[in-house]
Amino acid sequence: MDAARTARDLDAWFAANARDLPWRRDHDPYHVLLAEFILQQTRMETGVRYFHELLRRFPTLRDLAGANERDVLAAWSGLGYYRRARNLHATARRIVRELGGRIPSDVDALEELPGIGPYTAGAIASIAFDRPATSLDGNQIRVLSRVLGLGRPSNKQGGRQVRAFAERLVATASPRRVNQALMDLGSTICLPDRPRCRACPLAASCRSAGRAWPPRRKEGPAPGERWTAELWARGGRVWLTPPRGKGLLGDLWLPPMRPARASDPSDGIRHVFSHKRWHVATLRRHGTPTGKGRWVSMEALRGLPHSALTRRLMAWALGGAPAGHAVWVTPRRATVRRAGTGTATGSRSARSKTRLR
Ligand code: SF4
Repeated sequence: MDAARTARDLDAWFAANARDLPWRRDHDPYHVLLAEFILQQTRMETGVRYFHELLRRFPTLRDLAGANERDVLAAWSGLGYYRRARNLHATARRIVRELGGRIPSDVDALEELPGIGPYTAGAIASIAFDRPATSLDGNQIRVLSRVLGLGRPSNKQGGRQVRAFAERLVATASPRRVNQALMDLGSTICLPDRPRCRACPLAASCRSAGRAWPPRRKEGPAPGERWTAELWARGGRVWLTPPRGKGLLGDLWLPPMRPARASDPSDGIRHVFSHKRWHVATLRRHGTPTGKGRWVSMEALRGLPHSALTRRLMAWALGGAPAGHAVWVTPRRATVRRAGTGTATGSRSARSKTRLR
């Protein structure tokens, strides 16, 4: 396969078709670092929104490094995978403390930092500094495997061929443009089940052009857990307990929660994380709560690290569906739908869905 030709075709296509993303406008290393942490588990549309919000709160790497962790987690609220926020914060602190505030351009040095693996290091080195590094995620591996006629690479040899070809590409043309072209091509043209070969700049040389791909097997449902939330509400505020430091939502403010008992009601909220499904029974409480906690309004919640689940439980406790949502009622169940659409939806995160019963 002619790497020089492929790189040229990618470069020309990217010049005319690149997605307009905020960190691409200046290639500022801090902006690229921030975007790469956000996008590790997040869809692009959501990622761009959080990118602007995080940049508004922490305009520079030094601002982020100097912030306290609670504020960073609060700004991250709703994005999920809070370990990323902690790693981002720890990385900013290491860079300021040990590297004079300069983000390294070298892949090996980047990989020394918390939360940065080979993909993220390659993406930062190539996009921010135009260094010849590969950044092979699932999308790019799929595109290059098809170009090389390898189908779905499931063995080590296929993986080695893909990596070797990617290395030739970034050695031939601008790594910044080649890597981003592959990212965009994998997201918009060379789709998993239905590649749009007619619109593809690599169709003339691709060894899989025009080939039909059988649909991928659907993954089974995420494992489920049953929890019960105890809800105290008073004067437009809900009783929340502070982060416990352990467990899936251990970094966040939540109403008091415990594993469900057989005697608990079945009414509640079904919350789907990317890898887990929770059914949270809702138990209204009266009187005065005990233990550590505070009364929190929806407005004040913005300043605290919280999950989309916290917001939904608060909305439930305050007697309504989350803002921007109407409640769809059937004789047997109610499903949260975004007002004005026919699509069931639950959270700002693309990964979360909520159903009220
Ligand atoms: S020609 Fe088709 S299969 Fe080949 S890279 Fe382009 S979209 Fe993918």
